Amino acid sequence: MGGFKIGGLQIDRVEELYGAMFPMGSFFTGFPEDVVEREAQWIVPNHVEPTSGMMIASSHSWVVRTSHHTVLIDTGVGNDKSRPIPPFNELQTPYIERLAAIGLTPDDIDFVICTHLHIDHIGWNTRLENGRWVPTFPKARYIFGRKEYEYSAAIAASEGPTGKTNNGVDVYYKDSILPIVEAGKAELVDDGYTLDDNLSMEAAHGHSPGQMLIRVKDAGKTGIFCGDVIHSVLQVRYPDVNSNFCEDPVQAAATRHRVLSECADHGHLLLPAHLGNPHFGRISRADNAFRFHPGQD
Ligand SMILES: [Zn+2]
Repeated sequence: MGGFKIGGLQIDRVEELYGAMFPMGSFFTGFPEDVVEREAQWIVPNHVEPTSGMMIASSHSWVVRTSHHTVLIDTGVGNDKSRPIPPFNELQTPYIERLAAIGLTPDDIDFVICTHLHIDHIGWNTRLENGRWVPTFPKARYIFGRKEYEYSAAIAASEGPTGKTNNGVDVYYKDSILPIVEAGKAELVDDGYTLDDNLSMEAAHGHSPGQMLIRVKDAGKTGIFCGDVIHSVLQVRYPDVNSNFCEDPVQAAATRHRVLSECADHGHLLLPAHLGNPHFGRISRADNAFRFHPGQD
C-alpha cells in the first residue's frame, strides 16, 4: 500500500472493500444524464467502471502517525455484521491483517476517530468475541462528534410502539457504538477540538447532522480528512451534486463548496472516505467549479 507523508507525518490507508459497488444513478441526484461519457477521460477506469457505469468505491481507514499518537480515522463496515445493504452484509475481510501490513496491531492505535456515525464508518469500532461486541482497539480512546452521537442515539432510541422507522440505526448503534460507550472508551467532542499539535477537528455538517472533518498539519503541509463531504471525484467537478445519503442537502453542498475552496486556495490535500484509486488528491479552481488532481502532484 506504500503510504505517503503530510509534512513529516506518515499516512497510510487500510483497505476494507474496493470495487464497482453502486449504480451512479441510484447513488447521486443531479449529475447531467451523460456525465459518465462527458467526463470519461478522467473518471474511467478508477472512479467509474466503463462497462457497467457503476461507481468505483472504496471503504477504508486512514492511519495518521502524528508526532505523539497513532490515529485511525473511520472504521468501515466491520466483520460479522448483519446489514441491509448487500455489499456490507456479514463481511469477512482481512482488515486486521492489512493493518498488520503497515506495521500495526490493534493495540497500537491510540485514538479512533469517526468522522460521522453512518453504517460504513463505525464497523470496526467493535469485533465479535464469544458472541459479544467488544472494542477492536482495546487501548484506544474513540472520538465521536457530540452532535453526531446525540443524533444517532436519539434515532436509535426512536423505534418502538409508535412504529416510527429508524432505518435500522438501532442495530448498528447497538453493535458498533454502544459497546464503546459502555466500555467507557468514548470521547464526545465539539467543533474546534484539538487532539495534539498535528491534529484537530472541525464541523463539516450536512451529509450527516454532526459530521466533522479532521485537519492534519505538519511542516507547513495540511491534509483534510473530510469523511463523506464528497463520495466521488465527480462532485469536485459538480460540487452542488449530493449523494442520496446526504441528510441535509443544502448544508451538505455548502460544506462541500467551503472545503473544496479551502483546499484549492491553500493547496491542501483532500482525503475523503470512499474515493477510487489513488483515493486522495489536490483541488484547483476551474470553470466556476473545481478540478481534481489525483495523489500529491
Ligand atoms: Zn460513507
